[in-house]
Amino acid sequence: MVKGILARAASAKQAKIDHERLTSLINSMADGVLAVDKTMKVVLSNGAALNILDVNNTLKGRKLSGVVNLEDKNKQKIDVEELVTGTSTSTATRDLLLKYDDGSSINLYLSIAPVHLGYGGAGQQGYVLLMRDITHEKSLEEERDEFISVVSHELRTPIAIAEGDISNAQFLADKTGDIEQVRSALKEAHSQIMFLADMINDLSTLSRAERGKLTVDVEQIDVAGLLQELKTAYAPQARDRNLEFRTELIDGVKVLHSTTLYVREILQNFVTNALKYTQKGEVAITAQGVPKGVRFVVEDTGIGISKGDQEKLFDKFFRSEDFRTRQTNGTGLGLYVTMKLARLIHAEIDVESELNKGSRFSIFIPNLGD
Ligand code: ADP
Repeated sequence: MVKGILARAASAKQAKIDHERLTSLINSMADGVLAVDKTMKVVLSNGAALNILDVNNTLKGRKLSGVVNLEDKNKQKIDVEELVTGTSTSTATRDLLLKYDDGSSINLYLSIAPVHLGYGGAGQQGYVLLMRDITHEKSLEEERDEFISVVSHELRTPIAIAEGDISNAQFLADKTGDIEQVRSALKEAHSQIMFLADMINDLSTLSRAERGKLTVDVEQIDVAGLLQELKTAYAPQARDRNLEFRTELIDGVKVLHSTTLYVREILQNFVTNALKYTQKGEVAITAQGVPKGVRFVVEDTGIGISKGDQEKLFDKFFRSEDFRTRQTNGTGLGLYVTMKLARLIHAEIDVESELNKGSRFSIFIPNLGD
């Protein structure tokens, strides 16, 4: 008899411990957990569920439809209780919106599983709902989808033009044998292929920049050497376009602690733009030692950028509508990539420009690891 009482007390104690363990496990979960019984009343919820549903009272005993307000991706209301009772095997969806009373909403991951609530066969039938706020992931997915659609569109156009030019060249060679016409069609095809090469270059830098989030190797950059390198690379192009090309080192700055690859890439983007969008005058690069880093300035006396366009300069695929911009080849990715790289190395970019006068791209690059 006494043995029986002791055994019952021990098993009640064990059940209490098990219950506490389970409660603390559920409460430590990052995902929101709600359990409802057959009548769609909440029997259990964890802290994350209260957070996601934006309530601070216990949900126990409340009807599910009173606390979870769902819409599909077309903003059509969904009856949550119907959704749950219609679930015969465990299912999950990422296409729901959870609506709040103030009209705002989040993207919700919702998994529903029919379960036995409680132990043994006596346990009542019910459902467990697992919820996660996936708004951020969704917006990244949308951005990626949009990016892929824009890139494929941008790639398709030059491929179609180049293909047309080459077919035309073949036709001309067969039918007329006019070498000048064939040459001109091939020249146009070549320029489209060069554009594709530029675009692929920009895209690969972009993906490097995005992966590069993890690896920013700090090196000692010889500033004078870098200026010299840029001069050697770009002075011939400037000469071909009858432009002055100048580099200047101010205040005898010697070294910069940053990532050579990114710093060079950024300056190259500024300089190629300055050369591309300047018809007469000068392109100048200066480097000046400033507290905690180096300021590089790339200045030109080119077509300039209107105030409205200045706000969009660093947007993906942005190119000015200015006809002089449209006369040049460009992907609209250069400055977007430049900004990504600048952020990686904590650099700050400033732009000053006046239409028909010229532009000044200035970048402060801090010494990393200081
Ligand atoms: P891309 O040069 O390939 O078009 P970028 O992202 O490098 O792409 O530049 C975006 C746009 O910004 C250019 O198309 C041009 O309209 C404008 N821009 C950039 N640099 C200059 C500059 N130095 N002078 C005038 N316009 C510029």
